[in-house]
Amino acid sequence: MTNSYKSRTNLVHGGTRRSQYGELSEAIFLTQGFVYDTAEAAEARFVETGEDEYIYARYGNPTVAMFEDRIALLEGAEAAFATASGMAAVNAALFCQLKAGDHIVSSKALFGSCLYIIENLLPQFGIEVSFVEGTDLDQWRAAMRPDTKLAFLESMSNPTLEVIDIKAVAEIVHSVDAQLIVDNVFVTPVFQRSMELGADVVVYSATKHIDGQGRCLGGVVLGNKDFIRGPFEAYTKHTGGALSPFNAWVMLKSLETIDLRCRAQADSALIIAKALENHPKLSNVIFPGLASHPQYALVQKQMQAGGTVISIDLLQGKQAAFEFLNRLQIMLISNNLADAKSIATHPATTTHQRLTPEQRESLGISDGLVRLSIGLEDPDDLVADILNALN
Ligand SMILES: *Cc1c(COP(=O)(O)O)cnc(C)c1O
Repeated sequence: MTNSYKSRTNLVHGGTRRSQYGELSEAIFLTQGFVYDTAEAAEARFVETGEDEYIYARYGNPTVAMFEDRIALLEGAEAAFATASGMAAVNAALFCQLKAGDHIVSSKALFGSCLYIIENLLPQFGIEVSFVEGTDLDQWRAAMRPDTKLAFLESMSNPTLEVIDIKAVAEIVHSVDAQLIVDNVFVTPVFQRSMELGADVVVYSATKHIDGQGRCLGGVVLGNKDFIRGPFEAYTKHTGGALSPFNAWVMLKSLETIDLRCRAQADSALIIAKALENHPKLSNVIFPGLASHPQYALVQKQMQAGGTVISIDLLQGKQAAFEFLNRLQIMLISNNLADAKSIATHPATTTHQRLTPEQRESLGISDGLVRLSIGLEDPDDLVADILNALN
């Protein structure tokens, strides 16, 4: 969806459906079903469901539709479909368009559950998977085949924050008539419009920056109208991954502030990353907004900011990482991210514990690596908290 307004205006007004009561704040339509004036009207709606007509909340709901339209305006996508979680979004985006005998290419640095679907589930259904190093365009080129149907990547990897050239990968993927799905959670819809760079489908865990306050699970898939209203809607409405209207309302209201929140968090992240760079206890500070980041030139071209997550590598390994986490006073220990509250995570023993040591090594996840999700606290307090815990 597009209109002539700028993003921040659409984040406040976009998609609003006002009832006959003229409420200022968007209503929660906490209803599973809808009633019809006549039997003929019910029949007609099942024959053809028009714009803003509803049948059952698994298919659609007015509060969910407000959220979908607002995020579609932010992303610059023709259409969106909201799901119960980020993983419901990833699952449906893949399964709705794959069948036995298809081939898919994926970057190997993936969120754990995305990896599980692509590495374990898809092959069980006769889908062949090739993994590539996402930042190596030659590997993408070499992996493409005439029967390649899809490519999947996370635009910024977790937790090592590698940035993939979406425009270049999209060109390679389109050269064999395949479609590119981008999981853009870490970069956020505020800092990158992946469809303008060539992605065919964009998925988000709305649980992260979209809620941004740690309350609800949710997800959303964005794409062109033919895809969203065609195979995606058919798959999701019949398999039951719909977003709850209550959660949709929380996400809808959160979109009003997502631009302000993400920019404040990204500004703080840059301040903190600069304060930590060259710290004697750290072997590495990874932040896409630092000139030392391996894909800094690409970041400047592709993203509006470096994001809200920093990864630091403590020289003394797991012991030092645990001591650091236990000494933090403001930052909380959790595996979540993109909250208003700053969060520190030790990936090797939590989010990436299930991987073998060899897999972790190949992904650059050392025992000293700590992921810092920067929240909305004052950056000076966060810098002091981190330096104090390190020293
Ligand atoms: C969190 C996350 C998901 C899954 O989202 P849920 O809402 O937890 O289901 C998928 N991809 C990435 C990159 C994530 O960070």
